[in-house]
Amino acid sequence: VLTPAFFGAWIEEAARSVRAERDELTRLDAAIGDADHGTNLDRGFTEAVRALGERCPATPGAVLVLVGSTLIRKVGGASGPLYGTAFREAGKALGDAPAVSAADLAAALTAGVAGVRRLGSAAEGDKTMVDALAPAAGALAEAVREGRGLDDALGAASAAAAAGAAATIPMPARKGRASYLGPRSVGHQDPGATSAALILRALHTVAA
Ligand code: ADP
Ligand code: MG
Ligand code: MG
Repeated sequence: VLTPAFFGAWIEEAARSVRAERDELTRLDAAIGDADHGTNLDRGFTEAVRALGERCPATPGAVLVLVGSTLIRKVGGASGPLYGTAFREAGKALGDAPAVSAADLAAALTAGVAGVRRLGSAAEGDKTMVDALAPAAGALAEAVREGRGLDDALGAASAAAAAGAAATIPMPARKGRASYLGPRSVGHQDPGATSAALILRALHTVAA
């Protein structure tokens, strides 16, 4: 079972990872955006860790809703509302159970991705975070259906997210700032897909 402490540890690990990769995320955003993705996310996840430290909620759902609300307030840009919605929708999907299962987590990730799609109206192939998040949600759901263990299932989700992020390199961007570049966005990995893969990798790290 997955407790609020597990979800708190995930956000701490995600914050560490975003901090470590901040300059790389910003470099990717400099190529096809406005060079702020690393600093945006670092600010948001740092604040999310602080908020959880002040008052760690009693349920996994409430942890994710608090993280989402904090990201919406602190990250700004396109990715703040999008990641914020992902975490809030995932949290709402978990309801108010004191602990949740891997299957619940898979359903929550699917709900989070649906929230991102609704808000940003990006489909897979548009060169956005959806290109990492959607395959990760699919891989996690499939692994859980097959009865694989949590570590294994989250490993599959993380691998799918990383592959999805890498697959954005040859795509022309169709959403967000990068779409203003049209064909000149080809040849660069999408920053949001890259950060999504980091966040999914952090989830696997804390489960291992
Ligand atoms: P901004 O572009 O406002 O500066 P960020 O740099 O923090 O915001 O985030 C950029 C990332 O947001 C992109 O790399 C992309 O993955 C994601 N993004 C932008 N627009 C959308 C959208 N409509 N749907 C999904 N993701 C999007
Ligand atoms: Mg940017
Ligand atoms: Mg910006």
